[in-house]
Amino acid sequence: MRIVILSRNKKLYSTRRLIEACEQRGHEPVVLDVLRSYMEVVPSKPEVHFKGKTLDAFDAVIPRIGASVTFYGTAVLRQFEMMGAFPLNESVAIARSRDKLRSLQLLSRKGVGLPNTGFAHDPDDIQDLITMVGGAPLVIKLLEGTQGIGVVLAETKKAAESVIEAFMGLKANIMVQEYIKEAGGADIRCLVVGGKVVAAMKRQASPGEFRSNLHRGGSASLIKITPAERTTAVKAAKIMGLNVAGVDILRSERGPLVMEVNSSPGLQGIEEATGKDVAGMIIDFIEKNAKPHKTRTKGKG
Ligand code: ADP
Repeated sequence: MRIVILSRNKKLYSTRRLIEACEQRGHEPVVLDVLRSYMEVVPSKPEVHFKGKTLDAFDAVIPRIGASVTFYGTAVLRQFEMMGAFPLNESVAIARSRDKLRSLQLLSRKGVGLPNTGFAHDPDDIQDLITMVGGAPLVIKLLEGTQGIGVVLAETKKAAESVIEAFMGLKANIMVQEYIKEAGGADIRCLVVGGKVVAAMKRQASPGEFRSNLHRGGSASLIKITPAERTTAVKAAKIMGLNVAGVDILRSERGPLVMEVNSSPGLQGIEEATGKDVAGMIIDFIEKNAKPHKTRTKGKG
């Protein structure tokens, strides 16, 4: 099969592993820098161009689109979808998952467990916002943040008030969330491929830190997840419309709580912690599912 990997850098671990998995199965992977791909939008003949050349049609497209290039990246992906390539994750699903608040709203609608979360615009509503999520300590998150940057733990009500006020003053979009203390600075990353959890790891924050992101010094280890955690992760990926997703879960006294659903999950941490060939499973999924024009939305929306 002709498979295109949309990635900014061939040398990144996840991209390298996907290239390897394609080659092991006899496919021809092509890596394209999404920001150097450009599009001709004309009636009934969508095209993608790269360095002066018009690209031929592909059977499948693997988007590895960073959060900072969501807008342009999903436009390029949409163009490939319109050309009939099977997207590992659809452009609409990626765009949906990049909006943290919208994602939580969609998950809450279907009864998925979540940390209590509030969102407000006006500083006059801060007091009630804090009460709503159960008071301090609480977590304040920038909606645009990734890799733990822009996630703040406010230990007291006073600290919470001033941080929320400061963010609102800067016109930043934030959400305020109940702090799940019993998670003990750990979370669980479930890697879902085609409706199944194929690998799971526990990420533990470094001492004195509550954020378990590997980019923030967290450490990863193999973990056995509970049936409830498995069901929650699969359900969350399905609600978001993602074939491949990294679902981040906090273990709380009231069961698994979904924090985030990631549409371009990194493969290094999870493959190293579990010893599983996740890249291979992703390509196997594409082999089973890629048929021309097999996007439900055909890039609409
Ligand atoms: P990002 O998308 O930037 O990684 P997250 O929402 O995943 O932001 O938060 C980063 C980390 O902070 C999480 O991996 C988790 O360890 C911790 N964390 C986030 N929200 C909470 C919460 N409500 N309660 C306890 N810990 C949290």
